[in-house]
Amino acid sequence: MELSQLTIHAASDLLAAGEISSLELTEAVFSRIDQVEERVAAYINQDRDEAKAQAVAADQARKQGEVSPLCGIPLAIKDVICTKGLATTAGSRILENFIPPYDATVMERLAAQGAVCLGKVSMDEFAMGSGNENCAFGTPHNPWALDHICGGSSGGSAAAVAADECLASLGSDTGGSIRQPASHCGVVGVKPTYGRVSRFGLLAFASSLDQIGPLTKDVTDAALLLNGICGHDPRDSTSATQGSEDFSAALQEAGDLTGLRVGIPQEYFGPGLDPEVEKAVRNGIALLGEAGAEIREVSLPHTEYGVAAYYIIAPAEASSNLARYDGVRYGRRAPEADSLLELYRRSRSQGFGPEVKRRILIGTYALSSGYYDAYYKKASQVRTLIMDDYQKAFAQCDLLASPVSPIPAWQIGAKASDPLSVYLSDLLTIPANLAGVPGLSLPCGFSESGLPIGLQLQAAHFQEGTLLRAAHSVEQRLGLVGQKPNL
Ligand code: GLN
Repeated sequence: MELSQLTIHAASDLLAAGEISSLELTEAVFSRIDQVEERVAAYINQDRDEAKAQAVAADQARKQGEVSPLCGIPLAIKDVICTKGLATTAGSRILENFIPPYDATVMERLAAQGAVCLGKVSMDEFAMGSGNENCAFGTPHNPWALDHICGGSSGGSAAAVAADECLASLGSDTGGSIRQPASHCGVVGVKPTYGRVSRFGLLAFASSLDQIGPLTKDVTDAALLLNGICGHDPRDSTSATQGSEDFSAALQEAGDLTGLRVGIPQEYFGPGLDPEVEKAVRNGIALLGEAGAEIREVSLPHTEYGVAAYYIIAPAEASSNLARYDGVRYGRRAPEADSLLELYRRSRSQGFGPEVKRRILIGTYALSSGYYDAYYKKASQVRTLIMDDYQKAFAQCDLLASPVSPIPAWQIGAKASDPLSVYLSDLLTIPANLAGVPGLSLPCGFSESGLPIGLQLQAAHFQEGTLLRAAHSVEQRLGLVGQKPNL
């Protein structure tokens, strides 16, 4: 086995036993990147010298005693998370030359544990999209089918894990952006409970929905990486005080799920669900049953209004968050503007891509005086109804099981002229963000043409341990871990 194919936990064992060094491991991943990156295009930016220096420091730390399992582990980071001294573009021309003067809290935590940052990976501009086709620096290719999308917006994070161009990665999820690309690339992705992971240093898209989380080769790694980034942060006012937890402990409790009640939301199996996706997901659900879980039908009756509410709330928050990119304080400044207004106008028209402009226009319109009640207020009320749906469902069950995306990955360019159909495909992932509950995507099979399909599990607030335990049990029964795309 190549070193780049290792999981975090396998690499960590080898590092602890002194059988490999982090420098060797990091160099092996860079050779892998050299081999496949021309076809996958997952990365936007790398600083190899800095990564190797971090690896050397991690090797020294290991020699000096007890370290975190993440010590010396090479990770890829979505380019929306601030990295001190390393360009952070959010996939946008407007931040092309932005070098953050500080680290995001998650980066600080990872650095303190000795993790190695390989570089920054591709994403839809400002995390707006579902196919990573809205990145100013190119579209990454799905390692399982190179002419297909990786999913989005954390497409580079998912592709890099699937192609062994890192051991694991971080993404962010506002309406599905960790779970959906994880599903399309056949890796594990976790959107934590809102407040579980600090958003400090995450370039904001929609602040009431954004959450950082791990994309990994297996469930054990997802627990390890989540352990490493979660916990209270006084610099994020929405950070939860009960944020820290040891998720690896939840995985120790064997694979028997007796006593666990799994709800199947009927609304998640409606029209538009691809039959191959349904088949793989139903098989995953059957395995939950075989592991001892009790399977029952539940209803989340307002699911169908989630997309409409999200595409008011998220653009409204984005129109406000993105006002800071004005050509004065950050990033790109248009040359030759002869007034301040002209400077704003030109910098923003040149710096933002079409999808970001569309969202800013929608959001500004929705918030404008006279329309607020009809749009933003209404959408917030729908959000409350969706939260109530979850509360009622979680009175009857511990987990919800469903598809992640109603369709497998599409061909790059196939939906370019139809943004609405792309928005609609977020139907099954958006509700978790609106309610703030955690969600996970676990690989559960392939379509006939070889495209990965994910099983989504959702749980009540702060029940990631239950999510991971159930996912681990299904993962062991499926035996898909270690299956690699033929690159
Ligand atoms: N696809 C959704 C959107 O375009 C979700 C994106 C995300 O989670 N960042 O907004």
